[in-house]
Amino acid sequence: MGGSFAARWIHGSADCASNTDPPLQVHSFDESTFILRENKCLNYEGNFIYLLFGKRKALLLDTGSAPPQSVTLPLRKVVDKLITKRAAATHTPPVELVVAHTHGHLDHIFADYQFVERPGTIVIEPGVAAVREFFKLKGWPDCRSTFDLGGHMLSIIPTPGHEESHIAIYDKRTRIMFTGDMLYAGLLTVEDWHAFRESARRLARFAESHAVSYVLGCHIEMKREPRQLYPIGTTYQPEEHVLQLGARAIFQLRDACEAMGDDAREDVHDEFIIHLKEGALLS
Ligand SMILES: [Zn+2]
Repeated sequence: MGGSFAARWIHGSADCASNTDPPLQVHSFDESTFILRENKCLNYEGNFIYLLFGKRKALLLDTGSAPPQSVTLPLRKVVDKLITKRAAATHTPPVELVVAHTHGHLDHIFADYQFVERPGTIVIEPGVAAVREFFKLKGWPDCRSTFDLGGHMLSIIPTPGHEESHIAIYDKRTRIMFTGDMLYAGLLTVEDWHAFRESARRLARFAESHAVSYVLGCHIEMKREPRQLYPIGTTYQPEEHVLQLGARAIFQLRDACEAMGDDAREDVHDEFIIHLKEGALLS
């Protein structure tokens, strides 16, 4: 499968006052898959945002985290430009836009407001009810559905646990599994242990019957050095882990959850750390 990652993601600065990186880095993984990274000097979360194109629709997965009040996150501008460019290159009308979210936490939905009035656009409201209805996930969470962007099929897999409306999205064309905040090189924060463990099983079951090329989440918090986490809140990650994890990570996560059973606790692995949020639901 073709497609490539940025040789270097913008990763903040030791002194953010002198940071000259753009607010959003735009990387073309292939002609239909765009990866955006938010500048860590605007918000330490340094979110990754994805834009996937089919023949009729584009899916924007997340809208990033809030910059300081004096700054506008140029997400709408970037997305409009990519859609216009795509229409020109394919000699077709601009595609419809669906704004979806891996989950409803604030650092994933900030710029929704920029798309609410955009013509030809659907913004899926964060929350289980709207996600379930839009993607036709009737038996939530123990189900999955497909969504067609026009010759470009996505599988939608409910993965609550980090947050109750969390979904993973599998792209049949690139075989990328987008895992949001459930699985990435960082601190995997669990709000509901039982739901999270079930979701890890569900994801692994899916990956047993579908080849996965890469696992892509929405943040990087680990260093390249195994088991080492940057302090949460840092705005400078010169030695950060790459964005992508292998399919293996899906099975490692499942196995780690199964090994803990009902006795959930902090669990450090080379590429991720399972972490129970304070006050997490444990049964
Ligand atoms: Zn989150």
